[in-house]
Amino acid sequence: MDLGISGKWAVVTASSKGLGRGCARALAGEGVNLVINARSRAPLEETAEALRQEYAVEVRAVAADVTTENGRGQILAACASPDILVTNAGGPPPGMWTDWTRDDFIKALDANMLTPIALMQAVLPGMMARGWGRVVNITSQSVKAPIAVLGLSNSARAGLTGFVAGTSRQVAAKGVNINNLLPGSHDTDRIAALDENVSKRRGISLAEARALRQAEIPAGRDGRPDEFGAMCAFLCSQHAGFIVGQNILLDGGNVNATL
Ligand code: NAP
Repeated sequence: MDLGISGKWAVVTASSKGLGRGCARALAGEGVNLVINARSRAPLEETAEALRQEYAVEVRAVAADVTTENGRGQILAACASPDILVTNAGGPPPGMWTDWTRDDFIKALDANMLTPIALMQAVLPGMMARGWGRVVNITSQSVKAPIAVLGLSNSARAGLTGFVAGTSRQVAAKGVNINNLLPGSHDTDRIAALDENVSKRRGISLAEARALRQAEIPAGRDGRPDEFGAMCAFLCSQHAGFIVGQNILLDGGNVNATL
């Protein structure tokens, strides 16, 4: 299927690795030019070069912290009028509800709620004026079913979900579609770090921690960044113009719900 977005420009934040990289790669595969971003320059440049080699697209790499105003300024300076925005940032640390301080909440809200909102506020007016745009926010399955140790994520992402529910319906008539992609367990550095935390906390091996987690997934495995990227690219395509304000779960069936 031709997604009809060849030659467009996308900003994909937090994208040197993992799910962000999966989205950037899938868009590049559709002929979309990219601004990619991460804090560490070396892996970011490596990803940028790999994408340039694999696909004949332009890739601009911006080493910056997307959770800061300065970082977002640098990212948007590389492409002020993107057709597509994919928002992503690192997830908050695991912990216990009894331990989180106000500062912990502010950090999580900054990274996983206020950062994607600020990016949307910056690019939506241009998209609406041009009559076409796609925004995909990478959130989490924790939006549908809370994850006890990730209360900071549960809270911040719920706020972003509310913003998208209201805003997506205010911009849709201008040809701009905003949706959220909710990952369950995917094979990335993030899930490896979470497994390591469980292994330490429960005194079990890393392999046991992973096996216990995967036993809960009906698909019997973790998702792959390329599968995640393929859904992201579809949501950014010409065919997704009637999908508005949806929260699409990619979790191998992990959230046990009828709807
Ligand atoms: P990952 O493999 O750890 O990759 C994170 C990427 O984001 C890296 O490229 C990292 O590069 C970049 N990054 C992190 N913080 C950044 C910042 N402040 N500014 C710019 N770039 C930043 O993580 P992932 O598994 O792809 O997860 C992506 C998001 O999905 C996270 O919010 C995570 O909580 C959420 N999620 C993941 C899963 C899963 O199973 N993987 C499940 C549910 C939700 P640098 O470190 O160099 O900045």
